[in-house]
Amino acid sequence: MRNRLLAALPADDMARLAPALNTVQVAVGAVLCEPGQTIRNIYFPNDSLISLLAVAEGRMTLEVGLVGCDGMLGASAALGHDVAQIRAVVQQAGTASCIDSAHFCAELRKNPSLQGVLYRYNDALLAQAIRIAVCSHFHVLEARLARSLLITRDRLQSEKFHLTHEVLAHALGVRRVGVTNAASALQHQKLITYSRGNIEILDAPGLAAVSCRCYEVIKA
Ligand SMILES: [Zn+2]
Repeated sequence: MRNRLLAALPADDMARLAPALNTVQVAVGAVLCEPGQTIRNIYFPNDSLISLLAVAEGRMTLEVGLVGCDGMLGASAALGHDVAQIRAVVQQAGTASCIDSAHFCAELRKNPSLQGVLYRYNDALLAQAIRIAVCSHFHVLEARLARSLLITRDRLQSEKFHLTHEVLAHALGVRRVGVTNAASALQHQKLITYSRGNIEILDAPGLAAVSCRCYEVIKA
């Protein structure tokens, strides 16, 4: 799996960017940036997945975006604001293409195709965050969990993945017991199996039916 934003660039533009891109391994739980920190690197995930968490009082969090092979981490630095506003935590280990943000910004200024990709992606990221704000306030936890699992599945292109109760609680902004109850309900309906953080989606259409409409909106 390769990053689709980079893959969308014309070959000439990609050839200019390629020497500055390094493939890095990112481990589960690694914190790639914290609110208030200067963004020094921009990441384009390949098979890894990065959770974007809004942080309240230093400990409560809510996932406001998920960056996989169709996204990038650090888009705001490329747009001229180099102080992170979110905590970025690796949710699934794997590789990412990494570039120094100053180098990327210099390339961006002279590269219209890169600008187009970046502007469209930032717009999609904002739309995602807006939808998650609506979802978190108005929709029940079981539907939100279904939405979250389906989005993870789509980004990883896999029915099986590992997500602990703690990670899901941080993503959904709830206590762990809430995740346990919602996951049990989905398991009882034979939509998923969930044991020690190992999740398998058994019935994706059924899970989509239980999910709120936010899944389709974010996917679109
Ligand atoms: Zn929703």
